[in-house]
Amino acid sequence: MATMRSSLGIMKILHLKKRGCFLLKLLCLVALVLIFCEFLIYYVVIFQCHWPEVKIEAHRSSKQSSASVLKAMFLSDTHLLGEIKGHWLDKLRREWQMERAFQTALSLLVPDIVFILGDVFDEGKWSFSQAWADDVRRFQKMFRHPVCTELMVVVGNHDIGFHYEMTAYKLKRFAKVFNFTSGKLITRKGVNFVMVNSVALEGDGCTICSRAEAKLMKLSHKLNCSQQQEENHSKKRCSDVEQLPASEPILLQHYPLYRRNDAECAGEDSALPEEKNIPFKEKYDVLSREASQKLLWWFHPRLILSGHTHSACEVLHNGKIPEISVPSFSWRNRNNPSFIMGSITPTNFSLYKCFLPLESRVVTIYCIAGALLGVLILAHLQLLSPPFYFAQHLIRKHKAV
Ligand SMILES: [Zn+2]
Repeated sequence: MATMRSSLGIMKILHLKKRGCFLLKLLCLVALVLIFCEFLIYYVVIFQCHWPEVKIEAHRSSKQSSASVLKAMFLSDTHLLGEIKGHWLDKLRREWQMERAFQTALSLLVPDIVFILGDVFDEGKWSFSQAWADDVRRFQKMFRHPVCTELMVVVGNHDIGFHYEMTAYKLKRFAKVFNFTSGKLITRKGVNFVMVNSVALEGDGCTICSRAEAKLMKLSHKLNCSQQQEENHSKKRCSDVEQLPASEPILLQHYPLYRRNDAECAGEDSALPEEKNIPFKEKYDVLSREASQKLLWWFHPRLILSGHTHSACEVLHNGKIPEISVPSFSWRNRNNPSFIMGSITPTNFSLYKCFLPLESRVVTIYCIAGALLGVLILAHLQLLSPPFYFAQHLIRKHKAV
């Protein structure tokens, strides 16, 4: 009797051990899939991106040259969800994805400078101060960066509202965080960037608009002076102007310059075919023709980068000035978000688009893992239909042979 009891006890322990072992295996599988899809996949995908080669002027020595190339990263439309329209799960998921993508890109690619081309927030246009503070806190955590990398942000319509809802208060609170209001000129490694408040280019003479235009004209004067240093008449006009590198600027703004629609845009991340022919509304989808012309006259840029449309596009203005529409960086807006990597010198530039993991691929991995998990559990509980056991039996037999 005692022997029977003890053997029953041993069997119970063995059964429990087997079940524990099975549960541990399941847990390991779940953990592996989670770690891959939420962490490692960003390294696997972004590791394949590289800084593009750029032509360097021959008279510079090779040591000088490699140090003089500015590595700039451009991304746009992060649209951090707010408290009104954002569901907590959607917020959590999107912000985790963007944080991982950004942090992985920083650690693998080590850019000198990162520009975000507006619409950082989704509800900056109407959020109250508490919600704004919360959005800013989350942004600063997600887009934290080491001191060797600078982060610059251009204002977008979702940050301060479209022109009709833009107020001095909203612009001021944006400026307090990002040190940007009307326009800004920054020069790094001899490369001039002009950051434009494109929401304020309505052209109706409103206070914010007039200030923005005045600021841009001042910057344009400064840049023109540095490019005409040799001419005598400009020497007088420019005597009190701070000297800048004589390099044509790169314009950075939220709204794209005027274009009729996206019909000419190509590429896997351009607008959907059914959307491409929808005409763009001036001052809403794109800048007005007048404001676009003014920017081209004032700055003679060698490159323009803009956001707002959430899709990719390449346009050539006046037959020679390229404009790149940078797609949204958020998976909420695209299945295939991306960012632009630019190797830039005072005279040349070369761009490369780095795609982030496809959302559909991540979902597929989860689905396959879920199905595998289901099969394993059913097999363990011996709930699978006879054909499965027949196949399992065959495999075992084959193995034994
Ligand atoms: Zn926008």
